[in-house]
Amino acid sequence: MLDAKIPQGSLSEKWTKYKGSVKLVNPANKRKLEIIVVGTGLAGSSAAASLGEMGYKVKAFCFQDSPRRAHSIAAQGGINAAKNYQNDGDSTYRLFYDTIKGGDYRAREANVHRLAEVSTNIIDQCVAQGVPFAREYGGLLSNRSFGGTQVQRTFYAAGQTGQQLLIGAYQALERQVALGTVQMFARHEMVELVIIDGKARGIIARNLVTGELERHFGHAVLLCTGGYGNVFYLSTNAMGSNVTAAWKAHRKGAYFANPCFTQIHPTCIPVSGDHQSKLTLMSESLRNDGRIWVPAKQGDNRAPNDIPEEERDYYLERRYPAFGNLVPRDVASRAAKERCDAGYGVGTSKQAVYLDYAAAIQRYGKAEASKRNLGNVSSETITALGKEVVKEKYGNLFDMYEKITGENPYEVPMRIYPAVHYTMGGLWVDYELKTTIDGLYALGEANFSDHGANRLGASALMQGLADGYFVIPYTLGNYLAEEIRTNNIPTDHPAFVEAEKNASERINKLISIKGKQTVESFHKRLGKIIWDKCGMARSAEGLKQAIEEVRALKKEFWSDVRIPGGIHEMNPELDKAGRVADFIELGELMCLDALERNESCGGHFREEYQTPDGEALRDDENYMYVAAWEMKEDNWQLHKESLNYEIVKPSQRSYK
Ligand SMILES: Cc1cc2nc3c(=O)[nH]c(=O)nc-3n(C[C@H](O)[C@H](O)[C@H](O)COP(=O)(O)OP(=O)(O)OC[C@H]3O[C@@H](n4cnc5c(N)ncnc54)[C@H](O)[C@@H]3O)c2cc1C
Repeated sequence: MLDAKIPQGSLSEKWTKYKGSVKLVNPANKRKLEIIVVGTGLAGSSAAASLGEMGYKVKAFCFQDSPRRAHSIAAQGGINAAKNYQNDGDSTYRLFYDTIKGGDYRAREANVHRLAEVSTNIIDQCVAQGVPFAREYGGLLSNRSFGGTQVQRTFYAAGQTGQQLLIGAYQALERQVALGTVQMFARHEMVELVIIDGKARGIIARNLVTGELERHFGHAVLLCTGGYGNVFYLSTNAMGSNVTAAWKAHRKGAYFANPCFTQIHPTCIPVSGDHQSKLTLMSESLRNDGRIWVPAKQGDNRAPNDIPEEERDYYLERRYPAFGNLVPRDVASRAAKERCDAGYGVGTSKQAVYLDYAAAIQRYGKAEASKRNLGNVSSETITALGKEVVKEKYGNLFDMYEKITGENPYEVPMRIYPAVHYTMGGLWVDYELKTTIDGLYALGEANFSDHGANRLGASALMQGLADGYFVIPYTLGNYLAEEIRTNNIPTDHPAFVEAEKNASERINKLISIKGKQTVESFHKRLGKIIWDKCGMARSAEGLKQAIEEVRALKKEFWSDVRIPGGIHEMNPELDKAGRVADFIELGELMCLDALERNESCGGHFREEYQTPDGEALRDDENYMYVAAWEMKEDNWQLHKESLNYEIVKPSQRSYK
């Protein structure tokens, strides 16, 4: 059994006690210690800025031309925090409880409680940086609801929360760059981890402009490299998001946890054809006011506005009256799939459901008319007033929908369908965010830590910033306090030489295949296998087939991929080839993990294990653990971290 090194004591005191007794590094020693931070999205920027501010020497890496372009910038809906500004019953405990329940009792209690505790600090920190969160008329920060909760605890900046938070973290990072504590390496991709005497001591990075390999030393290495949803080819993730850094660490001994736990987001613009390489999210915030429905009659081809109210099935409100349209994402996604599979889907593909704002427009319109003291208003005026309110709240999302689909969502209900969005799995980390390799840490979406089998909306930004601003500054010190006598290791050390040689050989091998098929075509085929057999629904039979298919694809890739261009130049096809090669290996592990877990929980839905009404059926007796996989020569070995619930009593999740 794996030891997560959870501190002793009562749940609510663990973090406080840990902070009070953790080893410290004095300021003079901090200046001597070097830290490598790979990734400068929200988790990496916040970590690098905080560690730089504390006095450490930081080297930060990202593959984009600027940290400002990290995938985090895409986040739309908001960030959770237990501030209870709405006075609607929120508390640290309730955020903790909702997150554990939302994750279908497959997350670690101590981590989740810490996350809930620091959530409030994050908002204060970001406000101090100038993040323009939405405000009420009186000046208080505004909140809205996200799935899996009955309170309003989501802070937001219109539909651009990630962008605004990232600008805040980026400013903090750039301040350290200007002060000289952080050195920034943009357009650099980590392609190898360097381990010396069992400890992470550096990386090999490829300069993506020149193609040169570079050696970088660090007393510790932090991977903040995001999630791997792009293994599915089609996802809402940024096109560049990949698993390569985490995978290199996995190949060197870092365990990979719960790889099959993928989040499929219920409200995305449906796939429109075979030509697509990207899917677009319509933020969960839209479920605050939008109502989801399908026609009550199978195969109903009428235009949505021609279908009368009594012939519509608001299936989430019908099935889950307590949470309605705000059930968690896994539940909402499965319910949409169930309706479409049963023949009630809409649109040309019949793989879509409606997200309708007509009722919200009327509701807001009436409230606005009343606020403005308008007597005897026409229904046109009410509709116009309602549209204004909706525009203010969700305008950029509505514009985006119209640009992509050519339909006006103020007039016609949006068509939505679930799509891959987030990965709960990632590198296994203990309470200190340390992987199974000493000195190697994983933060943000790159680790598996806090969301169990299903992440609640608006909790990824919270976790990334909690890890970077508030957790790692303490836990890393606990490790580095023992490293103050370690001098910088020169990069001509044999371990660096060997790591660079491995990276170079792999790149040479890739480019010399000179086959006939594009990298993209392999990625697309991989995505289809994983989506069909390890996507929203899985079965033992399908997973076994998928494993065989992925293995065959891997062989084909390494004998027939064609990469144009050379090594010592800017070559995005070569960059992509390395990433797809890693995705293929990860794809096999995901299927293996899904096959091993003979239960359904959260986003992992095994068709063989469901309740009579189609809900996920857990098997707590046999599967209440984190599956952490160690890579062996030709296969993987499973290690388990058992999950002990001291406070919450796991039960069949109900949102009814
Ligand atoms: C469309 C969309 C909307 C979302 N909306 C929300 C929301 O409203 N609320 C919420 O809580 N969550 C939301 N999420 C999820 C959330 O945005 C992400 O989980 C989170 O931003 C991940 O942050 P991160 O810092 O861990 O990783 P990322 O932002 O993905 O950053 C990864 C970093 O790692 C670098 N990197 C990766 N590999 C390498 C390598 N090998 N070498 C060097 N650098 C590397 C990249 O350059 C980048 O800097 C949304 C996600 C999507 C797709």
